[in-house]
Amino acid sequence: MATSQEILENKHIKVVDNMLEDDRLLPCPFCGKVPKIAICDEEGNYHDLDYIDDPWSGLFFGLVHSTNEEDPDKCCPIATFEGEAMGTVSYDTIDELIERWNKRI
Ligand SMILES: [Zn+2]
Repeated sequence: MATSQEILENKHIKVVDNMLEDDRLLPCPFCGKVPKIAICDEEGNYHDLDYIDDPWSGLFFGLVHSTNEEDPDKCCPIATFEGEAMGTVSYDTIDELIERWNKRI
């Protein structure tokens, strides 16, 4: 299981507003945006990075792919609103999430 320290030291991962950006994720085939990774519990609630070290309600990683607010006409067909994880699938590890997303593209 990853710790917050391991995530901070991972050269692929950047932490931005409690979301993770991983440069191994491929851009979306529809809009070219790269999805972010949210830290979730088993009910899909979002948590910050510290939660990884004390996941008292389960630890999962979800893809977040927000809508294009500057230009809603170019809205991506698979985007969700800011703050909602994409789909209902969450992953036990970041590596699994990346593998599944990149395979779909
Ligand atoms: Zn997209």
